[in-house]
Amino acid sequence: MKMTRLDGSGRACSAPTSTGRARPTQFLPILVTLIFLFAAASHAAEPDWDLIGKTAVDKLQQYVRIQSIDPPANTAEAAQFVKGLLAEGGISAQLYTSGPGGQTNLVARVAGRDRSKKPLLLLNHLDVVPVDRKSWKFDPFAAVIQNGEIWGRGTMDMKGLAIQQMMALVTLNKSGIVPARDIVMLSTADEENNGTYGIRWMIANHFSDIDAEYVLDEGGFGTRDILAPGKLVFGIEVGEKQTLWLRVKARGTAAHGSQPIPDNANVTLLAALQKAMALPPAKPHPVVAEMIHTIGELAANRYTAAIQGNTISLTTLTSGVGSPAKVNVIPSAAEATLDCRLLPGVNAPEFISEMKARINDPRVTVEIINDADDPGVSNSRTPLFEAMRRAILQVHSDAVVTPMLVPHGTDSNKLRVKGLTAYGFTPMVLDLSTAGSMHSDQEHIPIAEFQKGIRIFYEVLRGEW
Ligand SMILES: [Zn+2]
Repeated sequence: MKMTRLDGSGRACSAPTSTGRARPTQFLPILVTLIFLFAAASHAAEPDWDLIGKTAVDKLQQYVRIQSIDPPANTAEAAQFVKGLLAEGGISAQLYTSGPGGQTNLVARVAGRDRSKKPLLLLNHLDVVPVDRKSWKFDPFAAVIQNGEIWGRGTMDMKGLAIQQMMALVTLNKSGIVPARDIVMLSTADEENNGTYGIRWMIANHFSDIDAEYVLDEGGFGTRDILAPGKLVFGIEVGEKQTLWLRVKARGTAAHGSQPIPDNANVTLLAALQKAMALPPAKPHPVVAEMIHTIGELAANRYTAAIQGNTISLTTLTSGVGSPAKVNVIPSAAEATLDCRLLPGVNAPEFISEMKARINDPRVTVEIINDADDPGVSNSRTPLFEAMRRAILQVHSDAVVTPMLVPHGTDSNKLRVKGLTAYGFTPMVLDLSTAGSMHSDQEHIPIAEFQKGIRIFYEVLRGEW
């Protein structure tokens, strides 16, 4: 019972005021009322975390058992489930059908004290990626518990995080705590397939229902090994890399395989790809510089390597004549695709023209498959960022909190483009194998961290921002 916790409730201030000239004894009923109000409010502000933790595990198991696989992202049942969970906490939600295959989005709103400020948006997605059932140890939709972990598709990405957000919001509402400003929760369909029926559809058709100043989405996380060895680091994602997909094509002369020629499209393509992928070192990004300043030298792994520069992955190679391709025919064309991820602030057209200059071969063309958008990074000097830092430290006193970049894309960039300040916030300590289990046949979530994260979310939501 901490009286200091009252600042989030907005209730203690509503005590009656007194006028002058009264004798001290006249204050007694007011004093009693005040004490009662303080006690009631502070009592309400101490949720039963054991019970909430158990309920959350049960809810996550139920949620995982709903197979909201994308494609086709039929999220109607998942959205109904979320609607029911929120209703248990006195929060009503609206459903938005966005596609012909049951694609459904959900929006719920909890009114805040200052309604002139734009809301905080809690963002999560209802869909999950498909499974290869044969390779799973457990039924991917049974939500089996073993060794303190829940196993199943969506436990990490991102039904677990969604349940944390919901349980925190419901707990806040049940406690009678009015947040600093409106909190809107958006659960989207189709995040795993570019958001066509999800975030993109909501932005195009109902942006005023979800417009906000702040967004909390998946992204950053706590870890003892991925970012810095032997140190508990909580990264809050403030930006992500730009996704730029390119097709490289080489042309040559068709010929008989028995008589090698210099103008072989395959050989030209291989030489071009080697030059294309020889990236010059990138200028360190300010967010990464701040990470290094805050946590010291970064751990050496593919994750930290990817956030320290621009990257290119050679993802497909297509060539040959006939199906199956003939071994004795030199083809006249060959092509490859490159998945390029650029640091925020890197100019994509310049990146491509530098690549073309490195290749420097008129037989080779570079085409854009998708345009990268670069909304830049969100400002970490905000009251909400500070509220997250405080909430993390309250539960993990030995943690170092830093803004961070993530190497992959999330829905957040689609909202950063619209001017929203978006943070990727996964309030759990994850090791490499757990964080890396997303989309794999071993997806699982550690229950203890899952439960602690609800408390962290709750502390954030009741903060001043
Ligand atoms: Zn996800």
